[in-house]
Amino acid sequence: MNRLLYAGRNGRLQEHRSLQAAARSGWDVGVADRLIPLPAGTSLVHLPGRIPVGQSAAGATVAVEESGAMALAAVLPPGYLRTWLPAYQDDGQPPVLPLYGYAAVASIDGEPHVAAMRTDRWNAWNPQAEGRRDIDAAIRSGRRALPASRLLRQLETCATDYRCLTAQNLFLRRGEGAIPVSPACNAACLGCISEQWGDVDSPQTRLGFAPTAAEIAELAGWHLSAGESNFVSYGQGCEGEPLTRGAALVDATRRIRAAAPKATIHVNTNGSRPDVLRRLVDAGLNSVRISVFSLDDTRFRAYYRPVGYGLDQVAECASVVAATGGQVTINLLTFPGISDSPSELDALVSFVQRYGVHQVQLRSLNVDPHWLLERIPQPTRGIGMRKFVRHLSERCPDLHLGNFTRPWPAIERKPAWASSK
Ligand code: SF4
Repeated sequence: MNRLLYAGRNGRLQEHRSLQAAARSGWDVGVADRLIPLPAGTSLVHLPGRIPVGQSAAGATVAVEESGAMALAAVLPPGYLRTWLPAYQDDGQPPVLPLYGYAAVASIDGEPHVAAMRTDRWNAWNPQAEGRRDIDAAIRSGRRALPASRLLRQLETCATDYRCLTAQNLFLRRGEGAIPVSPACNAACLGCISEQWGDVDSPQTRLGFAPTAAEIAELAGWHLSAGESNFVSYGQGCEGEPLTRGAALVDATRRIRAAAPKATIHVNTNGSRPDVLRRLVDAGLNSVRISVFSLDDTRFRAYYRPVGYGLDQVAECASVVAATGGQVTINLLTFPGISDSPSELDALVSFVQRYGVHQVQLRSLNVDPHWLLERIPQPTRGIGMRKFVRHLSERCPDLHLGNFTRPWPAIERKPAWASSK
């Protein structure tokens, strides 16, 4: 039996005697379907200033009247996708919620459950994996190996205070290693975690300097030399937009490729500068992940607040990498009720088919739900996130869905004399 789960006046979890749990999809409130037990690593969080709402037996949406009652949500570990947002009523003018991916919860047979689905089972990204407990020793050893690296200092904070798994990988010298490269950005995303503009604090401190090509190449080379399956990624949560680094990043990429001919050199980007991406690909980059909140121009602009670029440049970025046989992936910042609207699904399917996208990474957008909805024009209606995922995979049978970037074979290059014939 699905029951509303909320926090009572004392902050403790409580199951409502009669109301079913309600959940939100964009501008609509309904009842969440197919909830799952809380995966290991899930956090249950209070939503201050928000009154929990449930559904009565007659189907009405009803606010809990108990004084001091507070709505709850779950924040999922990597590898899980939120399928419904929490439903609540704002109590006056509540504080804007910090940047997390809030998911609806309910009590089923007396146990807390969450509206989510598993999207990637790659255990290397398990935050609780045993090897990750050795991070302090790994950081000490990194300091000894690269004592002058400013980038390594930055990543210490990411690996410990922010528990960034990609930064941890760099110290543990395995898998995808984070290489932050840019302090600047040409967008102002509503959900940016390294810079905010007033309503809410950004949870991470942005890189405060522009590393040189030599610094970038030194750190990347150190990571790549530790294992053949290791790879490096520019464009992390603690920085701005890597494509704004232009010449320095091209130079760094050329050095990295010369030292590691087979390695995956990947960039996470907002897709704003196809000219720079083309030069990076020429220098040896072979994999890209482009951030997509919406492929509708109005919603795209409302979310990214881009400066000097638009969806044409985003598409061109995908095309530049696809044309050379590189890996093209999308970081889909999902929000139930928007991402799963039929027009967004159609646009995504067209994009995937047109540019031969290899993988869509399904992420839960980290943002205060009501705050975001107030800033998105033209309300949409979703078909349900589970149905959206099913339709996307049926309509794009060759597309991989998941959460994490995979390595990709380096692009074979013809020698200059061969292409001139
Ligand atoms: S593109 Fe990235 S760094 Fe720039 S504002 Fe958006 S989230 Fe922040």
